[in-house]
Amino acid sequence: MLKFFNSLTRRKEEFVPYDKNTVRMYSCGPTVYSYPHIGNMRAYLFMDNIRRVLKYNGYKINGVMNITDVGHLTSDADEGEDKMLVASQRENKSPWEIAKYYTNVFMEDVKKLNVDIPEHICPATTIIDEIISFVQGLLDKGYAYKTSKGIYFDISKFNAYGQLGNDVSCKKAGARIEVDDEKKHPADFALWINAPENHIMKWESPWGIGYPGWHIECSAIGKKFLGDYIDIHTGGVDHKTIHHENEIAQSDCLEGHKVVHFWMHLEFLQIDGGKMSKSLNNIFTLSDLEKNGFSAEDFRYFYFMAHYSKQQNFTYDSLMSAKNSLKKLKGMINIHKNGENVLSKEKIDRYNEEFLNAVNDDLNMPVAIAVVQKLLKEDKSKDVYNLMIKFNEILGLNFDEEEKLIEIPQEIVVLAEKRWQAKLNKNWQEADSIRNKIIERGYNLKDSKDGYEIEKL
Ligand code: AMP
Ligand code: ZN
Repeated sequence: MLKFFNSLTRRKEEFVPYDKNTVRMYSCGPTVYSYPHIGNMRAYLFMDNIRRVLKYNGYKINGVMNITDVGHLTSDADEGEDKMLVASQRENKSPWEIAKYYTNVFMEDVKKLNVDIPEHICPATTIIDEIISFVQGLLDKGYAYKTSKGIYFDISKFNAYGQLGNDVSCKKAGARIEVDDEKKHPADFALWINAPENHIMKWESPWGIGYPGWHIECSAIGKKFLGDYIDIHTGGVDHKTIHHENEIAQSDCLEGHKVVHFWMHLEFLQIDGGKMSKSLNNIFTLSDLEKNGFSAEDFRYFYFMAHYSKQQNFTYDSLMSAKNSLKKLKGMINIHKNGENVLSKEKIDRYNEEFLNAVNDDLNMPVAIAVVQKLLKEDKSKDVYNLMIKFNEILGLNFDEEEKLIEIPQEIVVLAEKRWQAKLNKNWQEADSIRNKIIERGYNLKDSKDGYEIEKL
């Protein structure tokens, strides 16, 4: 039985899609105004994980992900600066150029990570007409009202507001928080914002020239590609209580029924036990990892080390340990490739069952990896290799790839030889200093009793 934790009911539930063959899945996509970091990448590995597990269970998927290429404000609550505009001023490019550039960077990163990309990728700027009809629908049904700033959603009209935990009962108008006097309730949120004269990304609408509020694009894109019944909606926990709460309000009120069945949220990737932040200079991108000698696949494997519902702590040491385990795992898989032993049918069935139970238990990847490690300890057998090929539909690793031969520069070869001689002569200081030179140049030495191997860092 396939089970997922549903943030809406706060429990693990059996997953059954509305349509028995095809799962309709929505994933909140990136805001494309700067380089995506490895925390964002954890969110898309999570999406990939769900997609692959669904396919493993025999489902087809109709999936969509938005690209937020229209500026939304730096705070979820319609305050702060327009992120796209800030980037456009910083880089002296138009917001359209900014969006195009960072969308490409994002797509390259997810491809490198072998993320199973949704069937539809939809930039918000391509569905402005649908957004306008959506907002008009909410106005017609009495769920929205007009102020001098734009069109707002009236949360008092939606009794079920707060299902994901956004407690708005204490946010009375006039309380400590800053209130826009025209809003009926401080938690009412913008559906359409009137554009100031100097605003760049703006469109004609029945309410004047403006641009969409940031929650509406996901509701409108979901409706356009998936209809009014969606099986799974994914995103990071930061989006749960405002963005997703507001999406539920918009969609359920327009359609007159619950639209999304399963809300699935990913916990954050922490860096050195804390938040990623510019001031701490600890925001890493996939290219930063690559510059330090790690591959996208190392990070993909690192994702499997923790359950998605728990915070995962990133340090270069923990990434190194994931890299080493992956290397060992691939080595063992290759040993089984031409193995001659036979794995009994009972054992094959048991491994299949254990692996399936782990991934179907709300994507328990650490347990699935433990099953894989146990399997690889079996005697050399082609049956083990074949099981790994199957399990890899979920792991998405590239273990068929031939080990790439790295060309070691002559200079490093000479230094390595000199160091070895120094070591033989027990000239430890010199040996260490040469080793440091080699490391500085991006290589390392692995010693054994009769020699050494040169590795690229
Ligand atoms: P954004 O571009 O800010 O909308 O974020 C894109 C996705 O990355 C969203 O689903 C966020 O919830 C998620 N996200 C942002 N920061 C982190 C983090 N540190 N760890 C995991 N997911 C994150
Ligand atoms: Zn969204």
